[in-house]
Amino acid sequence: MFFDTHCHIHMPQFDNDRTDVITRMRQAQVTRAVVVATEEAEIEPVLKLAEENEGIFGAFAVSPQDEELPDLSTEEIAKRVKHPLMVAVGETGLDYHYCHEPLDWQRKRFGTHIDAANLSGKPLIIHSREAQDDTIAILKAHQAYRCGFVLHCFCGDWDFAKKALDMGGYLSFSGIVTFRSAQDIQEVARKAPQDRIFIETDSPYLAPIPLRGKRNEPSFVPHVAQFLAQLRQTDCETIAQITMRNANRFFGLAND
Ligand SMILES: [Zn+2]
Repeated sequence: MFFDTHCHIHMPQFDNDRTDVITRMRQAQVTRAVVVATEEAEIEPVLKLAEENEGIFGAFAVSPQDEELPDLSTEEIAKRVKHPLMVAVGETGLDYHYCHEPLDWQRKRFGTHIDAANLSGKPLIIHSREAQDDTIAILKAHQAYRCGFVLHCFCGDWDFAKKALDMGGYLSFSGIVTFRSAQDIQEVARKAPQDRIFIETDSPYLAPIPLRGKRNEPSFVPHVAQFLAQLRQTDCETIAQITMRNANRFFGLAND
Protein backbone atom coordinates (compact mmCIF):
# COMPACT_ATOMS: atom_id res chain seq x y z
CA MET A 1 0.00 0.00 0.00
CA PHE A 2 1.29 3.43 -1.01
CA PHE A 3 0.93 6.94 0.44
CA ASP A 4 1.02 9.83 -2.07
CA THR A 5 2.10 12.53 0.40
CA HIS A 6 1.59 15.49 -1.96
CA CYS A 7 -0.89 16.01 -4.76
CA HIS A 8 -3.32 18.63 -6.08
CA ILE A 9 -6.25 16.56 -7.36
CA HIS A 10 -8.68 19.34 -6.41
CA MET A 11 -7.32 21.37 -9.35
CA PRO A 12 -9.30 22.01 -12.58
CA GLN A 13 -7.07 19.56 -14.48
CA PHE A 14 -9.10 16.82 -12.76
CA ASP A 15 -12.58 18.32 -13.08
CA ASN A 16 -13.61 15.93 -15.86
CA ASP A 17 -12.51 12.66 -14.28
CA ARG A 18 -11.79 13.15 -10.57
CA THR A 19 -13.87 10.11 -9.56
CA ASP A 20 -11.97 7.92 -12.05
CA VAL A 21 -8.67 9.29 -10.75
CA ILE A 22 -9.61 8.21 -7.23
CA THR A 23 -10.78 4.81 -8.47
CA ARG A 24 -7.47 4.26 -10.31
CA MET A 25 -5.63 5.37 -7.18
CA ARG A 26 -7.37 2.65 -5.18
CA GLN A 27 -6.72 0.06 -7.89
CA ALA A 28 -3.01 0.94 -7.75
CA GLN A 29 -3.03 0.29 -3.94
CA VAL A 30 -2.48 3.97 -3.19
CA THR A 31 -4.59 4.05 -0.04
CA ARG A 32 -3.63 7.46 1.30
CA ALA A 33 -2.97 10.91 -0.16
CA VAL A 34 -2.54 14.47 1.09
CA VAL A 35 -4.22 17.04 -1.15
CA VAL A 36 -2.54 20.43 -0.84
CA ALA A 37 -4.50 23.71 -1.07
CA THR A 38 -2.32 26.68 -2.03
CA GLU A 39 -4.85 29.45 -1.49
CA GLU A 40 -7.79 30.03 0.82
CA ALA A 41 -10.47 29.40 -1.79
CA GLU A 42 -9.13 25.86 -2.27
CA ILE A 43 -9.63 24.79 1.35
CA GLU A 44 -13.31 23.97 0.90
CA PRO A 45 -12.93 21.70 -2.16
CA VAL A 46 -9.94 19.97 -0.53
CA LEU A 47 -11.88 19.33 2.68
CA LYS A 48 -14.82 18.04 0.67
CA LEU A 49 -12.54 15.48 -1.03
CA ALA A 50 -11.15 14.47 2.37
CA GLU A 51 -14.60 14.13 3.92
CA GLU A 52 -15.99 12.07 1.05
CA ASN A 53 -13.02 9.78 0.44
CA GLU A 54 -11.43 7.57 3.05
CA GLY A 55 -7.66 7.96 3.16
CA ILE A 56 -7.62 11.46 1.66
CA PHE A 57 -6.37 14.31 3.85
CA GLY A 58 -5.83 18.02 3.35
CA ALA A 59 -3.14 20.64 3.93
CA PHE A 60 -3.13 24.39 3.47
CA ALA A 61 -0.78 27.35 3.24
CA VAL A 62 -0.63 30.47 1.09
CA SER A 63 1.53 29.64 -1.95
CA PRO A 64 5.11 30.96 -1.96
CA GLN A 65 4.82 31.46 -5.73
CA ASP A 66 2.18 34.19 -5.74
CA GLU A 67 2.82 37.56 -4.11
CA GLU A 68 -0.69 38.76 -5.00
CA LEU A 69 -2.41 36.30 -2.66
CA PRO A 70 -3.45 37.95 0.61
CA ASP A 71 -1.28 37.08 3.59
CA LEU A 72 -2.87 35.58 6.69
CA SER A 73 -1.69 35.93 10.26
CA THR A 74 -0.18 33.08 12.26
CA GLU A 75 -3.47 32.67 14.15
CA GLU A 76 -5.56 32.74 10.96
CA ILE A 77 -3.48 30.01 9.35
CA ALA A 78 -3.58 27.87 12.49
CA LYS A 79 -7.37 28.22 12.50
CA ARG A 80 -7.67 27.08 8.88
CA VAL A 81 -5.82 23.83 9.55
CA LYS A 82 -7.73 23.06 12.72
CA HIS A 83 -10.07 20.52 11.10
CA PRO A 84 -8.92 16.96 12.02
CA LEU A 85 -8.66 16.05 8.33
CA MET A 86 -6.22 18.92 7.73
CA VAL A 87 -2.92 17.24 8.58
CA ALA A 88 -0.28 19.88 7.77
CA VAL A 89 0.58 23.52 7.12
CA GLY A 90 1.90 23.77 3.57
CA GLU A 91 3.05 24.03 1.06
CA THR A 92 5.16 26.97 2.14
CA GLY A 93 8.77 27.97 1.63
CA LEU A 94 10.95 29.77 -0.87
CA ASP A 95 11.11 29.74 -4.64
CA TYR A 96 13.99 31.69 -6.15
CA HIS A 97 13.61 29.97 -9.49
CA TYR A 98 10.10 31.09 -10.31
CA CYS A 99 10.15 34.37 -8.32
CA HIS A 100 12.78 37.08 -8.22
CA GLU A 101 14.05 39.61 -5.68
CA PRO A 102 12.90 41.59 -3.83
CA LEU A 103 11.43 38.58 -2.03
CA ASP A 104 11.07 39.84 1.52
CA TRP A 105 7.34 39.07 1.24
CA GLN A 106 8.19 35.40 0.53
CA ARG A 107 10.59 35.05 3.47
CA LYS A 108 8.13 36.76 5.81
CA ARG A 109 5.22 34.56 4.65
CA PHE A 110 7.39 31.48 5.17
CA GLY A 111 8.23 32.51 8.75
CA THR A 112 4.55 33.11 9.54
CA HIS A 113 3.67 29.64 8.26
CA ILE A 114 6.33 28.02 10.45
CA ASP A 115 4.97 29.90 13.47
CA ALA A 116 1.45 28.73 12.54
CA ALA A 117 2.61 25.10 12.38
CA ASN A 118 4.19 25.42 15.81
CA LEU A 119 1.01 27.02 17.13
CA SER A 120 -1.31 24.39 15.61
CA GLY A 121 0.86 21.37 16.45
CA LYS A 122 0.72 20.22 12.79
CA PRO A 123 3.82 19.61 10.68
CA LEU A 124 5.07 21.67 7.74
CA ILE A 125 5.25 20.82 4.04
CA ILE A 126 8.12 22.84 2.55
CA HIS A 127 8.60 23.92 -1.05
CA SER A 128 12.21 24.99 -1.68
CA ARG A 129 13.65 25.79 -5.07
CA GLU A 130 17.10 27.30 -5.62
CA ALA A 131 16.96 28.69 -2.09
CA GLN A 132 18.76 26.08 0.00
CA ASP A 133 20.67 28.34 2.42
CA ASP A 134 17.78 30.69 3.13
CA THR A 135 15.40 27.76 3.57
CA ILE A 136 17.61 26.22 6.26
CA ALA A 137 18.24 29.61 7.93
CA ILE A 138 14.51 30.42 8.20
CA LEU A 139 13.61 26.90 9.35
CA LYS A 140 16.18 27.31 12.12
CA ALA A 141 15.23 30.87 13.07
CA HIS A 142 11.57 29.85 13.50
CA GLN A 143 12.37 26.54 15.24
CA ALA A 144 10.75 24.29 12.65
CA TYR A 145 12.24 21.25 14.40
CA ARG A 146 9.43 21.68 16.96
CA CYS A 147 6.52 21.02 14.58
CA GLY A 148 8.54 18.89 12.14
CA PHE A 149 8.86 19.41 8.39
CA VAL A 150 9.26 17.66 5.06
CA LEU A 151 11.10 19.04 2.04
CA HIS A 152 8.50 18.06 -0.54
CA CYS A 153 9.43 17.24 -4.14
CA PHE A 154 13.03 17.20 -2.98
CA CYS A 155 15.33 19.08 -5.35
CA GLY A 156 18.81 19.69 -4.07
CA ASP A 157 22.11 18.13 -3.17
CA TRP A 158 23.26 15.96 -0.27
CA ASP A 159 24.58 18.96 1.66
CA PHE A 160 21.07 20.51 1.73
CA ALA A 161 19.46 17.17 2.57
CA LYS A 162 21.93 16.56 5.40
CA LYS A 163 21.20 19.95 6.99
CA ALA A 164 17.46 19.24 6.87
CA LEU A 165 17.92 15.70 8.24
CA ASP A 166 20.07 17.05 11.08
CA MET A 167 17.12 19.24 12.09
CA GLY A 168 14.85 16.19 12.18
CA GLY A 169 13.39 16.88 8.73
CA TYR A 170 11.98 14.42 6.21
CA LEU A 171 12.58 14.25 2.44
CA SER A 172 9.86 13.49 -0.09
CA PHE A 173 10.73 12.21 -3.56
CA SER A 174 8.57 12.88 -6.60
CA GLY A 175 8.77 11.83 -10.26
CA ILE A 176 11.78 14.14 -10.62
CA VAL A 177 14.00 11.52 -8.98
CA THR A 178 13.34 9.23 -11.98
CA PHE A 179 14.59 11.77 -14.53
CA ARG A 180 17.98 11.01 -16.07
CA SER A 181 19.30 14.49 -15.25
CA ALA A 182 18.53 14.13 -11.52
CA GLN A 183 21.79 12.62 -10.34
CA ASP A 184 22.17 14.81 -7.24
CA ILE A 185 18.64 13.91 -6.15
CA GLN A 186 19.29 10.22 -6.85
CA GLU A 187 22.38 10.38 -4.62
CA VAL A 188 20.23 11.82 -1.82
CA ALA A 189 17.56 9.16 -2.39
CA ARG A 190 20.23 6.47 -2.05
CA LYS A 191 21.81 7.87 1.12
CA ALA A 192 18.81 9.16 3.10
CA PRO A 193 17.98 7.18 6.26
CA GLN A 194 15.06 4.85 5.71
CA ASP A 195 12.97 6.35 8.49
CA ARG A 196 13.00 9.83 6.85
CA ILE A 197 11.73 9.33 3.32
CA PHE A 198 8.32 9.77 1.67
CA ILE A 199 7.04 9.41 -1.87
CA GLU A 200 4.67 11.76 -3.71
CA THR A 201 3.39 12.67 -7.15
CA ASP A 202 2.88 16.46 -6.88
CA SER A 203 0.19 15.71 -9.48
CA PRO A 204 -0.89 17.07 -11.93
CA TYR A 205 2.79 17.98 -12.45
CA LEU A 206 6.00 15.98 -12.88
CA ALA A 207 4.84 12.53 -13.94
CA PRO A 208 7.56 9.94 -13.32
CA ILE A 209 9.32 7.97 -16.03
CA PRO A 210 7.88 6.01 -17.92
CA LEU A 211 4.88 8.37 -17.92
CA ARG A 212 6.82 11.63 -18.19
CA GLY A 213 4.90 14.37 -20.00
CA LYS A 214 1.46 12.98 -19.15
CA ARG A 215 -0.84 14.52 -16.57
CA ASN A 216 0.33 13.06 -13.29
CA GLU A 217 -2.07 11.45 -10.80
CA PRO A 218 -1.80 9.55 -7.48
CA SER A 219 -2.01 6.13 -9.16
CA PHE A 220 1.45 6.85 -10.65
CA VAL A 221 3.23 7.04 -7.27
CA PRO A 222 4.23 3.32 -7.33
CA HIS A 223 6.63 4.23 -10.18
CA VAL A 224 8.50 6.51 -7.76
CA ALA A 225 8.60 3.71 -5.17
CA GLN A 226 9.86 1.27 -7.80
CA PHE A 227 12.65 3.64 -8.78
CA LEU A 228 13.67 4.21 -5.14
CA ALA A 229 13.71 0.45 -4.64
CA GLN A 230 16.25 0.07 -7.46
CA LEU A 231 18.40 2.93 -6.13
CA ARG A 232 18.38 1.52 -2.61
CA GLN A 233 18.72 -2.10 -3.73
CA THR A 234 15.55 -3.28 -2.12
CA ASP A 235 12.06 -4.14 -3.35
CA CYS A 236 9.07 -1.94 -4.06
CA GLU A 237 7.07 -3.55 -1.26
CA THR A 238 9.69 -2.49 1.32
CA ILE A 239 9.73 1.10 0.01
CA ALA A 240 5.92 1.17 0.12
CA GLN A 241 5.94 -0.03 3.73
CA ILE A 242 8.62 2.30 5.08
CA THR A 243 7.30 5.39 3.31
CA MET A 244 3.75 4.60 4.52
CA ARG A 245 4.95 4.21 8.10
CA ASN A 246 7.07 7.38 7.95
CA ALA A 247 4.26 9.49 6.52
CA ASN A 248 1.72 8.16 9.03
CA ARG A 249 4.05 9.07 11.88
CA PHE A 250 4.72 12.53 10.43
CA PHE A 251 1.06 13.41 9.79
CA GLY A 252 -0.14 11.89 13.06
CA LEU A 253 -2.18 9.11 11.40
CA ALA A 254 -2.68 5.58 12.68
CA ASN A 255 -1.03 2.69 10.84
CA ASP A 256 -3.80 0.56 9.35
ZN1 LIG B 1 2.62 21.10 -4.72
